[in-house]
Amino acid sequence: MGIFSKPIKSLDDLFMHTLQDMYYAENQIAKNLPTMVQKANDPQLKQGFQTHLTETQNQIKRLDQVFQVLGERPKGVTCQAMDGILAEAKEVMSDVADTDVADAAMLSSAQAVEHYEITRYGTLIALARQLGKTQCVGPLEQNLEEEKATDKKLTALAESRINRKAA
Ligand code: FE
Ligand code: FE
Ligand code: FE
Repeated sequence: MGIFSKPIKSLDDLFMHTLQDMYYAENQIAKNLPTMVQKANDPQLKQGFQTHLTETQNQIKRLDQVFQVLGERPKGVTCQAMDGILAEAKEVMSDVADTDVADAAMLSSAQAVEHYEITRYGTLIALARQLGKTQCVGPLEQNLEEEKATDKKLTALAESRINRKAA
């Protein structure tokens, strides 16, 4: 158990913990995306990151709504997984010399982020349904669909140009 986190005794606690974990993760993503927008060399990749920054800001607002429905103040708990994915992304970037390869590296890191989000939103939706928190399901599903769409866009971008340019 984390030093400052509450013990997780029930499925309800697990839902709240996972929600707070995603609140933290989304805020870290929103903090890091501007650097990715700035560093992306390919205009389509740059635009893709910019679009997802706007979407991420909206996703945080949807999480705010979910907390509100639950009568809780929005709060994050450290997501070690997201911290790790973002730290790894930075480390790889610092080792890449070629700008086209840097784009391929950033894109692959972004997909690792999306996949983490997809698994957590999937869990949150399943828990919300199980716990009868029906009002939470809609906003969580909207976020999940955006993450899935982003992942698909990134795959298309990698296969159609970014990996080719870097090869
Ligand atoms: Fe997100
Ligand atoms: Fe996490
Ligand atoms: Fe995302």
